[in-house]
Amino acid sequence: FGLTEPNAGSDAAALETTAVKQGDKYIINGNKKYITNGPICDYALVAAYTDRSQKPSRGISVFIVERNTPGFTWTKMKKFCMRSADTAELFFDNCAVPAENLIGEEGRGFVYVMESLDGGRISHSATSIGLAQAAYEAALSYTQQRIQFGQPIYNFQAISFKIARMAIDIEAARWLMYRAAWMYDQGMRRFNESAMTKLFASEMAQRVTSEAMQIHGGVALMSDSPVQRYFRDSRRATITEGTSEIQQIVISRGLVTH
Ligand SMILES: Cc1cc2nc3c(=O)[nH]c(=O)nc-3n(C[C@H](O)[C@H](O)[C@H](O)COP(=O)(O)OP(=O)(O)OC[C@H]3O[C@@H](n4cnc5c(N)ncnc54)[C@H](O)[C@@H]3O)c2cc1C
Repeated sequence: FGLTEPNAGSDAAALETTAVKQGDKYIINGNKKYITNGPICDYALVAAYTDRSQKPSRGISVFIVERNTPGFTWTKMKKFCMRSADTAELFFDNCAVPAENLIGEEGRGFVYVMESLDGGRISHSATSIGLAQAAYEAALSYTQQRIQFGQPIYNFQAISFKIARMAIDIEAARWLMYRAAWMYDQGMRRFNESAMTKLFASEMAQRVTSEAMQIHGGVALMSDSPVQRYFRDSRRATITEGTSEIQQIVISRGLVTH
């Protein structure tokens, strides 16, 4: 899913990649940054301007670019989190794709991208909830096994209250996410619900994984501890698929326009 570029992150419409029609092909030039699964993809969906004189909702189109298309190359990017999903920078140098690889209508790509982000924010929330759930389960189990001062650390209220708050946080995010997913399935699509669940679930995952680290004490900081991975992986959640700041813009705008 190639939208983000070096100069177009939160301001996705500032993308600089272009696709110029020549006969029965489009010639794509530009590059994309931080693209999930970029190094292993069979094809990329690439957003590019087909008409710069138009506003984004009329000037951007989306294309399928197959992996072996001449002019399409990529470089793997190293990151400290979510190492199970590779990330790449994609490069398009006079990359010619058949006109039939245009998705939908020319110039409507930005609308398709925004719609897909709406659904994506719900599944992104599910990832955050899964991470938090794993961290919570690890922490709950550890508090019952770890003995200090002659008793399981769960017996210390300072610890069991953390566990209680973690459980509530996860449950709240889960139901917010289910509601957004249900509304999406019913076609009751408003950007608020998906942005709300994304914002809440991603920040919740950071709170819960951070508490799981604290509950594990020193063992959490060891490289082979699962909780440090949950902690690292959740750090990305408030940045990808639209940052928390952008979600708040979407939510606050929606509150006065719906
Ligand atoms: C691991 C990873 C995977 C990704 N996968 C993909 C992918 O598959 N496809 C894809 O297209 N993109 C992908 N991205 C890109 C991701 O969507 C962007 O990183 C994200 O949208 C933020 O853009 P940016 O990093 O350029 O930050 P910027 O937009 O430069 O933001 C920097 C800071 O400024 C804040 N900011 C920006 N504008 C405003 C504003 N108007 N008001 C208030 N604050 C603002 C931001 O919230 C942030 O805190 C991925 C990124 C990462 C890190």
